[in-house]
Amino acid sequence: MLQFEEEIDGGGQASGAPHVQLNPNDDSELNNGPYDAGKQQDITASRVRVEDKRIINGKADVNQLVPFKYKWAWEKYLSGCANHWMPQEINMTRDIEIWKNPKGLTEDERLIVKRNLGFFVTADSLAANNIVLGTYRHITAPECRQYLLRQAFEEAIHTHAYQYIVESLGLDESEIFNAYKEVDSIRQKDEFLIPFIETLTDPSFKTGTHESDQQLLKSLIVFACIMEGLFFYVGFVQILALGRQNKMTGAAEQYQYILRDESMHCNFGIDLINQLKLENPGLWTEDLRKEVSSLIKQGVELEYHYAEDTMPRGVLGLNAPQFKEYLRYVANRRCQQIGIDQIYEGANNPFPWMSEMMDLKKERNFFETRVIEYQTGGALNWE
Ligand code: FE
Repeated sequence: MLQFEEEIDGGGQASGAPHVQLNPNDDSELNNGPYDAGKQQDITASRVRVEDKRIINGKADVNQLVPFKYKWAWEKYLSGCANHWMPQEINMTRDIEIWKNPKGLTEDERLIVKRNLGFFVTADSLAANNIVLGTYRHITAPECRQYLLRQAFEEAIHTHAYQYIVESLGLDESEIFNAYKEVDSIRQKDEFLIPFIETLTDPSFKTGTHESDQQLLKSLIVFACIMEGLFFYVGFVQILALGRQNKMTGAAEQYQYILRDESMHCNFGIDLINQLKLENPGLWTEDLRKEVSSLIKQGVELEYHYAEDTMPRGVLGLNAPQFKEYLRYVANRRCQQIGIDQIYEGANNPFPWMSEMMDLKKERNFFETRVIEYQTGGALNWE
């Protein structure tokens, strides 16, 4: 079946007759104006060749998954599917008992749980919007699109998990679900992210120029390295620290699954960023590297403010200054992963147990709740 489109040029002259799109393998089109992600591609053109596939601005048909070029993306898709889980499979009985018992948790521990959920109940919806309404439209590698579809569903599962915890504990839903508007340290993180998400979700935004491709790259870095790679980590440490003390073990188990998924999202995002840079080396300018470095510093400040706000006093053997060190350590790791200079010299990891948490197989008997072995095939390789 032929795909037709109407073209209207800048002078207002309509092409009139339906126009058959040019051969998508013709490289002369590659840098010819912005990429239109919504445009159907001509399926009657010649066969897709591996060498024509590109992360962005590709002209090969995005509907054709094979021949594979980006095997790392396909393998991450398979790993994500092999680790499928659903929130309601996790038993929350002990969490409900401890939450309802006036002596079950301290006020500081309760604050941590509520602030945590206050951030996360909307964060994963932001992430989902970013993927479905933004990133997916601009990525022209079908293997990466396949992973993004899986990732989008995982973001939905995470939002479901947080809602399930709120409902199980009988928390004030309006307090938790409005925290992103009403709690400064949460709102400031979201306000930092939203302009970058809006770049990608803006219907008029198109890649295909140096400036717009740089904007896309910057937004991908903010999303993978700062949102999924930094802004989630204070919250993850706090709830997993509760679990390590045998408190809120059902919630902690859910967070452990979420951490495992998010670790994969972050690694996928970094692979995507690095492949995009490899294919478009002109985008990764000194100015952009400086800007990214400055954004990562801002991210560390915002996340540290969130740590202080959620833990006004030391609790669970944790305190806010430890988080400063931890965030600097994580930020250095993100810099290294995308190839920029580390920002914080000598930062160490005060929570070495966190890396073990990402490998669920090792820890499967850690919590005394029911644990299902979700892995159905394929070895996992986290960081
Ligand atoms: Fe995610």
